[in-house]
Amino acid sequence: MKSTRYNRRQFLHVGGAVVAGCTAPIIRKRAPKIVIIGGGVGGLSVLRQLADDGRGAFDITLIEPKRIYTTCFYSNLYVGGLRDLASIQFGYDALGALPGVRMVHDTATAIDADARQVLLRDGTRLPYDRLVVSPGIDVDYDSVPGWSQAAAQRMPHAWQSGAQTERLTEQLALVPDGGLVVVIAPPNPYRCPPGPYERVSMMAHALTARGRSRARIVVIDPKESFSKQPLFQQGWERHYPGMIEWLPPMIHDGVRRVDVETMTVETGFETYRNCDLVNVIPRQVAGAIARHAGLTDAGGYCPIDAATMKSQHHAEIFVLGDAAIAGDMPKSAYAANSQANIVAQVIRQELRDEGAVTPSYRNRCWSLVDESDSVFVGGTYEPAAGKIAQVESEISTLDDSAAVRLTNYGDSAAWYLGLTSTLFG
Ligand code: FAD
Repeated sequence: MKSTRYNRRQFLHVGGAVVAGCTAPIIRKRAPKIVIIGGGVGGLSVLRQLADDGRGAFDITLIEPKRIYTTCFYSNLYVGGLRDLASIQFGYDALGALPGVRMVHDTATAIDADARQVLLRDGTRLPYDRLVVSPGIDVDYDSVPGWSQAAAQRMPHAWQSGAQTERLTEQLALVPDGGLVVVIAPPNPYRCPPGPYERVSMMAHALTARGRSRARIVVIDPKESFSKQPLFQQGWERHYPGMIEWLPPMIHDGVRRVDVETMTVETGFETYRNCDLVNVIPRQVAGAIARHAGLTDAGGYCPIDAATMKSQHHAEIFVLGDAAIAGDMPKSAYAANSQANIVAQVIRQELRDEGAVTPSYRNRCWSLVDESDSVFVGGTYEPAAGKIAQVESEISTLDDSAAVRLTNYGDSAAWYLGLTSTLFG
């Protein structure tokens, strides 16, 4: 596989037509108001697409409560001891220099779609011509019996990056040689399909590197199979023989209960007591604002129009990233960035009469199995039969050479650097 290089232009024009300079912009009395909820990958990618030409053609307000964004992508490398925390953390200061952009560090608490306004926690109402909703996921604390938000201090999820990831990494450092780690994997659909298995790989890497290769990692999975399964299992046998035990539902019969006091995980067949670390990765749903605004369906995610990423409920509201039901596309940072290109094209077309919309999407997800052994899965997608459908796919092979796997790692690092510098630089 040829090495791929990523530059700023690719992150800004991945999805299709180049948007600026195609036709003369419509002259309006005021710049159209764009409000973006969520300063993660989806929200920031739209912002950059609309603001980076420096013309201030849009009046953009970004709402994000956090001052520092810790990327979930590459957070497993921090867990594995291959990156430090600072290297996956980014601030929003650079956005202040962009013409037409205003950053509001607050939480959006409601959307008044009839009045086209977003309500903030501090009571402010922000009017919009178009609203972009990219709040990511919430973890469902009720989905694992015995577990709760308080229990997540002792049995972290680390599926929203930051303090939780630090906690998990600190607890991993205390696992002794011969210790027991239990990872409870999530049901579909969830953020980053290969993520739990990359996490397991990076836990095994960290334990091995610290001379604790007699530790055991048990993965209790509600799914019959998982993303890149043969590639992960080959890597586990190759790099960490005998350390990782993956259990599908027929082997454990479901998680009955967890108990943080005794660090116990009880399944239908076996009870794991005195665990040294329990990583509960639970069921997930779209971020609260999307649910409270009535943008979600019964499954907890937001139905969208496959050609525009517009909410199926409101023509002026776009939903993208992990909160959206994006058909065959996985919930990934790469996918959110690709969807943002379509959102920005549609906004430019509708409000400035600029460019054409080419609804084509891409994804590629790399996973690190060991320090220099990276595998990927990816594809291209188009609207078809009412959903975003996969039209091409790609995946690493079991007989890739070590050199190919190392090149993959280089590609993933280039992608990470390119994306984070495009969004935060
Ligand atoms: P986020 O990036 O989470 O951004 C949402 C933002 O919205 C947050 O900053 C939040 O504070 C804000 N927000 C929420 N509610 C409100 C509100 N009411 N008001 C204002 N702001 C709000 N993807 C990849 O492509 N490659 C990988 O290798 C990869 N690895 C991963 C590894 C792990 C362990 C995990 C957990 C995920 C990984 N991902 C990866 C997935 C990737 O992180 C997500 O898919 C991506 O961040 C989704 O972007 P988003 O904009 O939907 O959500």
